Amino acid sequence: MIKTETTKPHIVFLFSDTGGGHRSASEAIIEAIDLEFPEKFTYEMVDFFKEYSPPPLNLAGPAYPLMSRMEYMWEFTFKSSDNPDFMKVLFSAFWPYIRFGMYKMLREHPCDMYVSVHPLINIPFLRAMRKRGNKTPYMIVVTDLVSTHTAWFAKDADLISIPTEQARKPALHSGIDPANLKIIGLPVADRFCKPPGDKTELRKKLDWPLDKTIILLVGGGEGMGPLGSVTKEINQAKLDVGLVVITGRNKNLKEELETLDWNIPSRIYGFITNMPDFMRAADILVTKAGPGTISEALIANLPIILYHRIPGQEEGNVSYVIDEGAGVWAPDIEDIISTLKDWLQNPEKRDDAVNHAKRLAKPDASRQIARTINQMIKPKIKW
Ligand code: UDP
Repeated sequence: MIKTETTKPHIVFLFSDTGGGHRSASEAIIEAIDLEFPEKFTYEMVDFFKEYSPPPLNLAGPAYPLMSRMEYMWEFTFKSSDNPDFMKVLFSAFWPYIRFGMYKMLREHPCDMYVSVHPLINIPFLRAMRKRGNKTPYMIVVTDLVSTHTAWFAKDADLISIPTEQARKPALHSGIDPANLKIIGLPVADRFCKPPGDKTELRKKLDWPLDKTIILLVGGGEGMGPLGSVTKEINQAKLDVGLVVITGRNKNLKEELETLDWNIPSRIYGFITNMPDFMRAADILVTKAGPGTISEALIANLPIILYHRIPGQEEGNVSYVIDEGAGVWAPDIEDIISTLKDWLQNPEKRDDAVNHAKRLAKPDASRQIARTINQMIKPKIKW
């Protein structure tokens, strides 16, 4: 009799903490794999910028909030580099500098499948794999909704999951074989996808007003964009609402808003870990155009007012929400106030946005990605 020993297949997630979205996406997929296939796989998450990139690239995580605030420079860098030929030349020029890190990562993290949730690792790491003859399955899960930079689209990847139909065009433009593309959705944590529960009970739990329309104001994980001035103007407008502000990791803003002279009922929070409860207990979301927050809000059926976007990268998120009718683009504070007034006076307009949010929601995306990964991993048998 031939004796076989099976070990659990191991999956390595390639991510980096540039913004909150890449970590959230990896964690959401890992959670979904565990729910769909309990105990079947082992995992690890590797922050390739922090652990395997030479200076100053290893500082990309802490530098991201600062860099993305320099909007003109960010927009110029994003748009001028969004070209497949340019990326090829750029990564070739950088290759002598980054290749030791890429080979080291390949040596130190052998696995049965790589899943990348970051645009900037795909081309160089797949190059390292190819040069070492490594044929481990490689899947890219794109975490931008529409304005997907060409760096996401590495032709050597076995499969690329994109979140929307609108992201197909840039993928094809980058030369991706349509057979290697799958429209699935943006992976979102399972706790967002549970049945909504009772709004009044949630509000009681959170100690929010029960008799007011609740506006939830969020600026991504870092509390970015003009969150402070938007808060102050909503307060000044003295609308008949309750306002919940999430300042994320922006501690200075939290302190500033806590001492504000408030005209309306308000609650100020720093970084919160129960966003699903917050979204389900609220009535309207006012936010910057982060892909994670938008996808979560669609699942929570929240109508969205977008007041800010990172140029380049988040522009498509705005057109997605607006064109599909799930919300409004209000870059000026007066636009936010007038939209809020309009939605308060004409609830049918808000209901219309809610219905479009319902239509666009993809609560099954993480689980579908999990099932796809399961299909792509070859059974591992040691003889
Ligand atoms: N988030 C959170 N707590 C907070 C603020 C934000 O959990 O206090 C989460 C939010 O639910 C979303 C992510 O952080 O999943 C932000 O991702 P997004 O893509 O919207 O923006 P980014 O921060 O990546 O620019």
